[in-house]
Amino acid sequence: MTNCPETFVDVILPLPLANFYTYLLPAAWVGEVKRGCRVIVPFGVKKFYTAIVIRIHNSRPSGYEVKSITEILDNHPILLPEGYKLWQWIWNYYLCKPGDVYKAALPSGLKLESETVVEANPDFIKTGPFTEKEERLMALLPPGKGKDLSTLIKESSLKNIATLLKGLIEKEAVHIKEEVKSYYKPKTEIRIRLAREFQNEKGIENLKTILKRARKQQEVLLAYLALTNNGQTEISKKELQEKTTTSNAIINQLTDKGVFELYEHETGRLNQHEQPEQHTVNPLNPFQEEALNQINQLFKEKNVCLLHGVTASGKTEVYIHLIEQTLKKGKQVLFLLPEIALTTQITERLKRVFGNRLGVYHSKFPDAERVEVWKKQLSTQSYDIILGVRSSIFLPFRNLGLVIVDEEHEQTYKQQDPAPRYHARNTAIVLASLYGAKTLLGTATPCIESYYNALTGKYGMVRLTKRHQEIQLPEIEIVDIGELAHKRRMNGPFSPRLLELMNKALLQHEQIILFQNRRGFAPMIECNVCGWVPKCKNCDVSLTYHKRMNQLTCHYCGYTYQIPAECPACGNTELRNKGFGTERIEENIREIFPQARTARMDLDTTRSRRAYEQIIHSFQAGETDILIGTQMVSKGLDFERVSLVGILNADSMTNFPDFRSHERAFQLMAQVAGRAGRKNKRGHVILQTRNKELPVIRQVVENDYESLYHEQLAERLLFRYPPHFRLIYVYLKHRDEARIEWMAQEMATYLKQRFGYRVLGPDKPAVGRIQTLFIRKIMLKIEVSASLAKVREELENIRATLQNNEQFRSLIIYYDVDPC
Ligand code: ADP
Ligand code: ZN
Ligand code: ZN
Repeated sequence: MTNCPETFVDVILPLPLANFYTYLLPAAWVGEVKRGCRVIVPFGVKKFYTAIVIRIHNSRPSGYEVKSITEILDNHPILLPEGYKLWQWIWNYYLCKPGDVYKAALPSGLKLESETVVEANPDFIKTGPFTEKEERLMALLPPGKGKDLSTLIKESSLKNIATLLKGLIEKEAVHIKEEVKSYYKPKTEIRIRLAREFQNEKGIENLKTILKRARKQQEVLLAYLALTNNGQTEISKKELQEKTTTSNAIINQLTDKGVFELYEHETGRLNQHEQPEQHTVNPLNPFQEEALNQINQLFKEKNVCLLHGVTASGKTEVYIHLIEQTLKKGKQVLFLLPEIALTTQITERLKRVFGNRLGVYHSKFPDAERVEVWKKQLSTQSYDIILGVRSSIFLPFRNLGLVIVDEEHEQTYKQQDPAPRYHARNTAIVLASLYGAKTLLGTATPCIESYYNALTGKYGMVRLTKRHQEIQLPEIEIVDIGELAHKRRMNGPFSPRLLELMNKALLQHEQIILFQNRRGFAPMIECNVCGWVPKCKNCDVSLTYHKRMNQLTCHYCGYTYQIPAECPACGNTELRNKGFGTERIEENIREIFPQARTARMDLDTTRSRRAYEQIIHSFQAGETDILIGTQMVSKGLDFERVSLVGILNADSMTNFPDFRSHERAFQLMAQVAGRAGRKNKRGHVILQTRNKELPVIRQVVENDYESLYHEQLAERLLFRYPPHFRLIYVYLKHRDEARIEWMAQEMATYLKQRFGYRVLGPDKPAVGRIQTLFIRKIMLKIEVSASLAKVREELENIRATLQNNEQFRSLIIYYDVDPC
């Protein structure tokens, strides 16, 4: 044949590379690969990765030798065209690499990497002795069977395994190779059926004679026939065994005789058997009805709508109606929540209405389950509604009609580390637009930017100002703890007024929530003579003290330390607790109210999904009287019996050096206050502060979001912050402090040449070193009207110029666009 053009594919690799890579598609496979399919490709020294095909073409790249793809993994794309467009938008907008987006988007089970496998050489002839360690290693390598390096390291517990292996490779005693292993295994069960020849009446008669003398086998056969007599011809081995208490041996005998056939059947991990409970949707109250009408009206002109509704106004009920309308049109819905913590309650409410049309997707689910959700969404039996946290924006959608972003103000929608540092709310709006779908943002305390967008007409705005059944918003009472502390009238972190109200609530069998802000209140230990505080050796932070484990941990790198017996600075043996972490608060509460049942909800007590659900459930069921927690207790949870909320220290929020600190403080306090209040009784909030004159304190007390908004907006215009300007943080990291200082200065100089007064810094961030790397931050404030594409190009040029210099090669540079 002549002139048959070669075919190439461009792929994205799961690595932070600036470019796409091109591979040759072997002629035999042409036509079998589509855009969005996964392939295995070699990359670097003997490594293999799962890559995603984004283009198929006939132009051979020049300048390097093109390798062939190794394997095709999919017949059908797992990345849909809209998904790919979203990826592109993310890496362009958030200034990161395609591979970063790919890595964040797919569950691990869909992006296998190769592993190094070590194998004994079967042809090896031993000519000299092995060292003792070499012997130990060789003993772990049975002939003909490879073992992956990580297993070998674990099993041998040898430290210098790399050197050992090198020696053995040189002696040709072992080979190494790369193998791609699949961690995702479909979930299967063993099923039993009758061999074909017995699958009719006559066959069964025959069987009875065959098994005449094997009474036990006969019994099992009869049980099988009874269980399958409804026309079913197969049954799981487990079920048969459970219902007959049959041993494996008997089933094996029947299989050996050719009566039964055993085989594997793929069952999947997703619970698809439960029937949708056809609960009717709650009818809306008149305010909600009006809000729903307005939303539908606004959606005719606007793609995004902000639902600003006070806590417990029934926003969720409005969402449910809107979802129902969307499903009726045959379209899909994505329901985003800021945190896993919130999914439990909402899942229950949505499941009640939508049953198994609802799928849940989040990072605390086992990876294999996430793979199955992904695959299900690609199938014709996809879920109609996906409820999930930020990573669910990456799921494939066929026919998206509506995106709901609940608690849209939450900063957990922004991914901090690693790249892509995307904001899931803003990305979701882009996702919706790719499908011509609508986005509803809901919250009681809007993000300043969203409110601005709504007031300026970019978004529609709808308000719900009344709580359902006209339950009143809580009464918020300020307690000046500065003065009380001065008069020595504080009992630890509690004012007398708070304790008085707690006592009253407990007597009336009402529930209490105590809120302690996470920031700045990590429990620490301190030498009570010289003031020494233990710090992490890798990061510039004080260590957090965990009483229960009697350990110190670094919240940045996770390193744990033993508590020193004496102060390393002065030798004093008395180290005392400092700060009021939630653990210590709970302890104090137990001393003051020994009869009360308490629970604590913070990062430590909610590591597993179960633990979190447990805390919520027992609080909801009234088995806990006092719930003590951080940010987590403020998040849209709906409890019926809470009459009192205590905000232990408002200043830890307002004092934070960040342009958003007052906005955040307002949101947190308004949200946590919103947990108080029950039918027939107005809730009560005690707000403890040393700065009662701060405007934000009054704004919280009067629930005056408008005033907060206008004040913040003016301030932000003055100091060039969002929504008037777009922020980009440039981060630099390096091992060497003197060098990072110099490099950061260089970088800032270049940036200033190009962006002038829009550049601020370099600065040392609040935590100036993490995991042994020193950090500097340069701030860019760009007019929102400026072209981001231009900015990106400039930044890339500056980076390239700098890193052309040999000395800058080891500098790590990354960006955070729209930091939170
Ligand atoms: P939000 O999401 O605005 O905080 P929710 O939707 O959680 O408010 O509503 C608060 C409480 O009021 C919930 O217990 C909810 O079930 C109830 N509720 C709100 N609207 C209705 C309605 N129309 N019918 C019945 N119950 C409602
Ligand atoms: Zn000391
Ligand atoms: Zn650390």
